[in-house]
Amino acid sequence: MPTNQAAKVTFMGTGTSHGVPMIGCDCGVCTSSDPRDKRTRPSVLVETAGKTILIDTPPELRLQCVANDVRHLDAVFFTHAHADHVMGMDDLRRFNWLSKSAIDCYGSKPTLDAISKTFAYIFDGDCDYPSYKPSLNLHPIDDAPVDIGGASILPIPLMHGPLPVLGYRFGNIAYCTDCNVIPPDSMKRLQNLDVLILDALRDKPHPTHFNLVEAVAMAARIGAKQTYFTHIAHALGHKKTNENLPAGMALAYDGQVVQSPL
Ligand SMILES: [Zn+2]
Ligand SMILES: [Zn+2]
Ligand SMILES: [Zn+2]
Repeated sequence: MPTNQAAKVTFMGTGTSHGVPMIGCDCGVCTSSDPRDKRTRPSVLVETAGKTILIDTPPELRLQCVANDVRHLDAVFFTHAHADHVMGMDDLRRFNWLSKSAIDCYGSKPTLDAISKTFAYIFDGDCDYPSYKPSLNLHPIDDAPVDIGGASILPIPLMHGPLPVLGYRFGNIAYCTDCNVIPPDSMKRLQNLDVLILDALRDKPHPTHFNLVEAVAMAARIGAKQTYFTHIAHALGHKKTNENLPAGMALAYDGQVVQSPL
């Protein structure tokens, strides 16, 4: 793993599957005027070794790309096929138009199989309106590093309750969303990080996500120089939560940019 590869990450979305504010909720975070309490569904944009890589295609993908002025993608990596991570896939066709080329998409075979079923109109080859669907090349991956024109991406196998998902490491930044168990072999892949981005859903325990106490303990074990938590539910207000987190740990917010080396 070439850990001297510089990387820049933009948080496209930091919210859990419902987003924040949630539909029909009047709680203090959902009604907060702090822009950092507005969370779209989870995704990051990675710029590394001259390549621009999107991780997941959440429902607000168009809004996220407009807000962050994203105009080109070299590849898309998927963590898993849950709705909050894939339902913006149709917006990728805009990048086909801009680059006049298909987009290479990577994920585990089960993830890509699920995506192919969910988006049959894209992948079944019988669409009546080919110019209105994204042009995507699916590439199944395992846990071996993937090279995107000189940019190395290391998959990090994680458990999201019973579901295997993939996190990804690019240089000394790792993105590990939707997980509550990190297997020993994957812990080895998370050594010497500048920045760890880790799932932290809420205070209460959850069967498939780290809660905040578990995420803080795991972040301390991994020992990145800086940890940012993501996939955040409305139970965690940005300002108040950050005031109580250990040094070197913070909730992320939509639009935040982090870089390595620090
Ligand atoms: Zn999720
Ligand atoms: Zn709420
Ligand atoms: Zn999930």
